[in-house]
Amino acid sequence: MRWSQTFIPTMKESPAEAEIISHKLLLRAGLVRKLTGGLYTFLPAGFRALKKVEQIVREEMDRAGALEVLMPALQPPDIWEKSGRLESAQDVLFHVKDRSKKNWVLGPTHEEVITTLVAGELSSYRQLPVSFYQVQTKFRDEIRPRFGLMRAKEFIMKDAYSFDIEDESANASYKRMYDAYGRIFARCGLQAFPVQADTGVMGGAHSHEFMVPADTGENEVVYSDSGDYAANIEKATSQGPLKRTLQESCGDVEKFETTNVKTIEDLSARFDVPAEHQIKTLVYMVDGKFVLLLLRGDDQLEETKLGSFLRSASFRSATDSEIHEQLRAYPGSLGAVGVEDIRVVADNALKGAAGMVTGANQDGYHLRNVDIERDIRINDWCDIRKVKAGELCLESGNPLKIRRAIEVGHVFKLGTKYSEALGATVLDENGKSVPCIMGCYGIGVTRTLQAVIEQCFDENGINWPTSVAPYQVCITALDVEMESEVMKLALKIYDELQAEGVDVILDDRPARPGIKFKDSELIGFPLRIGIGERSLAKGNVELKPKTGEMILCSPDETVSKALDWLEANSVN
Ligand code: ATP
Ligand code: MG
Repeated sequence: MRWSQTFIPTMKESPAEAEIISHKLLLRAGLVRKLTGGLYTFLPAGFRALKKVEQIVREEMDRAGALEVLMPALQPPDIWEKSGRLESAQDVLFHVKDRSKKNWVLGPTHEEVITTLVAGELSSYRQLPVSFYQVQTKFRDEIRPRFGLMRAKEFIMKDAYSFDIEDESANASYKRMYDAYGRIFARCGLQAFPVQADTGVMGGAHSHEFMVPADTGENEVVYSDSGDYAANIEKATSQGPLKRTLQESCGDVEKFETTNVKTIEDLSARFDVPAEHQIKTLVYMVDGKFVLLLLRGDDQLEETKLGSFLRSASFRSATDSEIHEQLRAYPGSLGAVGVEDIRVVADNALKGAAGMVTGANQDGYHLRNVDIERDIRINDWCDIRKVKAGELCLESGNPLKIRRAIEVGHVFKLGTKYSEALGATVLDENGKSVPCIMGCYGIGVTRTLQAVIEQCFDENGINWPTSVAPYQVCITALDVEMESEVMKLALKIYDELQAEGVDVILDDRPARPGIKFKDSELIGFPLRIGIGERSLAKGNVELKPKTGEMILCSPDETVSKALDWLEANSVN
């Protein structure tokens, strides 16, 4: 491609709305443009990089044996009604009406469509296992679209679905996808690692997310340096808090006045009760009923863990007035001592705790000497606290760390929820009708592209891996007169590299060298070939890898040196 004939509108400064580096660079390098919040147009260079990511995804899906299909983005709501997600996915579902005012939805994902397809097409276990995939536009009504392509309202996803007759082969299908994901991200030049993920309200099945470490990521990952544990914080467990709670037996419960104490910190500061000796009482509404959640004062609730424990997605914290009506006290003075008719769920970190302080369910009063098992009627013990850095891994005992990360992919063993709801059954060997065991597997293709930038950049711009760069090589001709020696050589090298199958762009713009170099560094072509009159007079062409030292070579050896460099720096 001749630069003068394409459209790469680079910018010196990035628009103020771009908060993170990859978003800034996407805009500054002229790869995308915003239509409005959460909606982007891919410009020619950005689209080239996107297609390369898609190609890698397709090759690895094909290699894993999945069959490519293309499903409609526009979907009838009745299949969502059947799966139960018209309600549970309402936060992300876009609705549209047709001319007869009939309602439709825009697909945020395609379990309903693929399962309906399989229900109609497959009838025998002999047709299984089978996996389908597509690379397609998804629509999600995100509350806060942000960070460019990272969280958009419309984005490209690769979604795949596996159908198996038995558990063992369903696990094998899962493993094939899991392995394919590892290869896909590695081939994109990304360091992504799998972490255990929440399996949601269905429980039982397993799930991993593929995470790219980044301070700007919206996820927190708990991991150990030894590599034996990694989990999304929404799922992570540990041996528990490092500071022990009091365990000795204690005297009788005593009430004491704590006027104006509203928080754990107030009580610590004014009454010298360390947070780990307090019981935090949260009031939730679960499926319309009150539930008291007890945590150690220095712990935070992890709502996702609560959701999987309750097997319900329908819960929220109760409002102050609901709480007052039920417990006759406001937050700040709540507790579970003496509570009889409400379900009480306590976090495991409180097991055996004695000599604790908790609210008295009377505003301005607390209770001391609370022995949790003696004084509180607990219905369920469970693990609902957020793990903290430094705690020890349950399995290996190794210390845990926490870091932020971007979720680029997700593999999920679904089980039979959708196949049962939508009738995707087949006859097994004995002629019995059984629901298919499903898995679903997503990769945010556009998010992955941006994650590559978030991980690969320097102060001058993007450092594209050769596999997904819009062009692998940029030839910077410093004299663009067609008859000049410089341009003649540039064209010759350009033709030869193209003939070798290299993606090459020739910067033939009549611009100052400084501008050309800056643009090339900003867009981040992996290798630049600089041809200028002065160095050519000395018999030199400059090969400048974006992330490496300049190599000087003679005009004749330029192509072979460039090919060698590409070979040595290939990530495929
Ligand atoms: P998130 O937790 O980030 O909202 P999710 O878990 O809802 O994502 P999945 O349903 O697992 O997303 O979708 C599969 C993949 O699609 C994700 O791993 C992510 O890479 C991508 N993705 C999801 N939502 C968006 C979005 N709004 N914009 C861009 N990519 C997205
Ligand atoms: Mg996910």
